[in-house]
Amino acid sequence: MVARKFVIHHQDSIFEIDYDTEYGVEVLQTQIFSLTYVPSDEQKIVAEDDDRVVSLSDETDLTSIPDKLRLVSTGGNSEDISQGTSGQIEKSDAEMVKSDEELARMLQAEEEAMMFQQYVAAQDSSEFESRIRPYVSQVLMYEDPVRQEAARKTVPKDELEEKALVSLAKEGNFKPSKHEKDYAFLLQLLFWFKRSFRWVNEPSCDYCGNKTIGQGMGNPLTSELAYGANRVELYRCTSCPIITRFPRYNDPLKLVETKRGRCGEWANCFTLYCRSFGYDSRLILDFTDHVWTECFSHSLGRWIHLDPCEGVYDKPMLYEKGWGKKLNYVIAISVDGVCDVTKRYTKKWHEVLSRRTLTTESSLEAVLRALTEERRGSFMSQVSALKLRDRNEQEELERNLHSPDDTSVSLPGRQSGDKEWRILRSEFGSGENSSVSSSSCPVRTCVDDHVTNIHDSFLPIVTQFVVDDLPVARAIEVLNMIKQVLVDLKNAPFKTRKARLTLDADSSSSFPEQFLPALEVLLFALSLKSQKDTDEKSLTICLVGKPTETALALPVALDALRELVTDLRKCQNLNKDSLSFPFLKQNRVCSGSVLASGEELPSGIATAAFDGIQESKWEEPNGAKGCWIVYKTLYNQVQQLIAYELMSANDAPERDPKDWVLEGSNDGGSTWHVLDKQTNQVFEERFQRKSYKITSPGIQANIFRFRFLCGRDVNSTSRLQLGSIDLYRSHH
Ligand SMILES: [Zn+2]
Repeated sequence: MVARKFVIHHQDSIFEIDYDTEYGVEVLQTQIFSLTYVPSDEQKIVAEDDDRVVSLSDETDLTSIPDKLRLVSTGGNSEDISQGTSGQIEKSDAEMVKSDEELARMLQAEEEAMMFQQYVAAQDSSEFESRIRPYVSQVLMYEDPVRQEAARKTVPKDELEEKALVSLAKEGNFKPSKHEKDYAFLLQLLFWFKRSFRWVNEPSCDYCGNKTIGQGMGNPLTSELAYGANRVELYRCTSCPIITRFPRYNDPLKLVETKRGRCGEWANCFTLYCRSFGYDSRLILDFTDHVWTECFSHSLGRWIHLDPCEGVYDKPMLYEKGWGKKLNYVIAISVDGVCDVTKRYTKKWHEVLSRRTLTTESSLEAVLRALTEERRGSFMSQVSALKLRDRNEQEELERNLHSPDDTSVSLPGRQSGDKEWRILRSEFGSGENSSVSSSSCPVRTCVDDHVTNIHDSFLPIVTQFVVDDLPVARAIEVLNMIKQVLVDLKNAPFKTRKARLTLDADSSSSFPEQFLPALEVLLFALSLKSQKDTDEKSLTICLVGKPTETALALPVALDALRELVTDLRKCQNLNKDSLSFPFLKQNRVCSGSVLASGEELPSGIATAAFDGIQESKWEEPNGAKGCWIVYKTLYNQVQQLIAYELMSANDAPERDPKDWVLEGSNDGGSTWHVLDKQTNQVFEERFQRKSYKITSPGIQANIFRFRFLCGRDVNSTSRLQLGSIDLYRSHH
């Protein structure tokens, strides 16, 4: 083994890496990742001196590669999408000075708390150890292949995988790395678990299902003890004489079956699920009476907080800041050790320290070290990698403890440093209109070209209706046949989607052959293709080979078809007028980027107004008395808007917009031209689309903004929401 020091140049930064060749290549790559966030499979290393490529593989002789290296990312498309965005949050000088003072005060307070703690804490660590011990053996159950298999069997893996890929695609990532996919799947596993597990206060009566009242504890039965239920709560029914037992099972194998409990059962069972899909997982024990899970994300290079009871991830400040909890000890317990992670969950370490009186900090460390060594005795080969991961984590925890709480850190999308956006932002922040609030949202890119393609693909279909002079009822029949095929496809496993359409002219449910060319255009927009079966009496429709794109587009096409059918029902007959707006929605503007004055995450993200899915919406938590959303076209292309549409969201009519102004700018937001203005608009229904033609013609712009001046009922809500926003440009 040889100690080396590498200097790695990446973009505009220089990183020094202390490294022991004994660790192996993988560890080096992990170290590089933790500094640069370039995943190992995208790390291309060249020698700084002569640009020679240094290949990092298991055969690489780490003692002989040069000291000065440069890292070139070969990864993803994140760089070119974000263009000028640097990923840095800029701080004013005044803010920096303030935070320096704060930091000094905080360090002083921590020092004092530490001194104090030495005096009051018990020297003896046995009480602390006895709190941890039971969990050290508990977590070993997660390693059992039988339990893992039982857990995996209950998960709709394909469905979660599809959702994970679609969520990445919505952020523009159509070719995620394995690590990115793993992380996205983990989040879907969390959401699924939250939906399928039940919370129990008092269980309902086993016999009649009515309410029960607690009767204290009972003696466990042998069958209950077999699954670790040493404690059994008893409940008396309010309407029949039956006593209902609530055994508090500790064995996650049983919990996979019962799917119910309080936070102990939730975290215990969810951690097993995480382990059974191969994630490095820990059970997190908060001594102030809560339990949750942490998993290591290779895509983010750090441990992620996951609270199954709340369905919340990567929000470690949830407890101290959100719930006002007075934390003391937060301990991570896993198969390969026990670790104090309290610092991840607090920004008030000096206060936390003053409550840590179970034992002194040094005896606590000794207990954790002993328990960890006890566990690691059996993992000789991996111990150095684990130690490195531990050290990185400790450094991260120290760093985070004194860094300002960045609420956007875990959220999709990226921070914007783009100069033009910053100008727009500051204009709104200090602007003349006090009703307009400043934005903490990042700029987000709309991944919605499939929405535009789907709408465009309706032109050939409707044209065929008009050419054939089809009665409205027959046209609806044809559309419903297409809809049924899409429903069949949507219900099929997403990697191998397939459906059949009958062409047999003798059959009443047969699809008219003259519509096949038009259907082909729609299928193309959905990354689907068709092939006539050998008997020529049916058509098989299957994937082109981009399952994620199809998964993303299918729900959009179904919503669009449903709307087309609804609109058709209102028609007397089809004619040339049917081929224009608003019946057909041609030339929809897409792939731009948006910035909003606010958004609700994750359910009301700004880009949801542009995703073509009715159920999703943009929700502005403080938008009722004024808010805004800005849309910048792709490549700053100048457009002439001829119309736009707004759709009301799924619920809460009081949050609908009532008054608004639409403006355009072609000089980066210095001057704005009013394109349309509406007052006293009322959406009578949910998912109601309202179409507006732009009357002031000829204005070319590449930035558009809606200023929503007032919501429908500002007295009953602070929120404003919209199901969708669609912009339509002229043909040229
Ligand atoms: Zn009962």
